[in-house]
Amino acid sequence: MTSATGTAALAAASLLPGCSSSASKGGKKAVCDVPLNISFQEGIAPGETLAEKLDFMENLGVVGFEPGGRGLKGRVTEIKEALNGRNIKVSAICAGFQGFILAEDPEVKNLFDTTMREIVEAAGELGSTGVIMVPAFNNQTPCKPHNMDTRNYLCEELHKLGEFAKACGTTVILEPLNRKEAFYMRLVADAAAIARDADSEGVKAMGDFWHMQEETSDYGALMSAGKQYLQHVHIASRGNRKMPGENGEVDNYVEGFKALQQLGYDKYVSFECGCGGDRATLVTAAVNLLRAQWEEAKSC
Ligand code: MG
Repeated sequence: MTSATGTAALAAASLLPGCSSSASKGGKKAVCDVPLNISFQEGIAPGETLAEKLDFMENLGVVGFEPGGRGLKGRVTEIKEALNGRNIKVSAICAGFQGFILAEDPEVKNLFDTTMREIVEAAGELGSTGVIMVPAFNNQTPCKPHNMDTRNYLCEELHKLGEFAKACGTTVILEPLNRKEAFYMRLVADAAAIARDADSEGVKAMGDFWHMQEETSDYGALMSAGKQYLQHVHIASRGNRKMPGENGEVDNYVEGFKALQQLGYDKYVSFECGCGGDRATLVTAAVNLLRAQWEEAKSC
């Protein structure tokens, strides 16, 4: 039964756009060759300075760095110099703007437009995969009502922002959250559908294994975005959002990793989490756990 189900899933996956599953001709090699590109947000690695953190990351084979967007314009030179000569690139930029895109108050919306575009410009200079954004957190009010007109408005505004990001050489990345934080957009498929309807190559979506507690399937969620829209992934332990592995058996990412491999996902899996003990020990253990599960996910 397990084998038959797996075969059916692979066959179905091979029909999805952008999917290089092992069921397709030559696909086996592609699935086996997809590397796990691990990225850290700035607070993850131990170290007093950025250089110390990057040294630690480099020793661990971490290849992506995800800084916060706040003040990014003033840090472009610092970050470029810190990464010079290293095998680490800027992955995504984590938010950092002010205001929000679905604000009722025009001043708050203007604040979003101004600060977001400044971060997008800096992200382009740094070669980032994109700037992560949430349309509206539950606590951001007054917010446009959750209805069809607002969805159309969101897509129109995202189109303009996406075209701006594309001109800067980067993207904006929609992040679905769990319902406690942002009821407006909770599923990877919904974020991807909004990105599609925004009709700009500069608008993408992402999945966060922590927030993906909303999903019925890690595999289905990530596969639903497809390679065309999936631009970033966040990861944390699945019980209390600490380092992967801190919550024992529930920290299983194999089904999600299978989807990433079958998609030929070539972006980053980035740590966004706290730490419940000795940082150097737990970060190292987490990286080793993810690498082991990435191998386990391979169907070849
Ligand atoms: Mg996240």
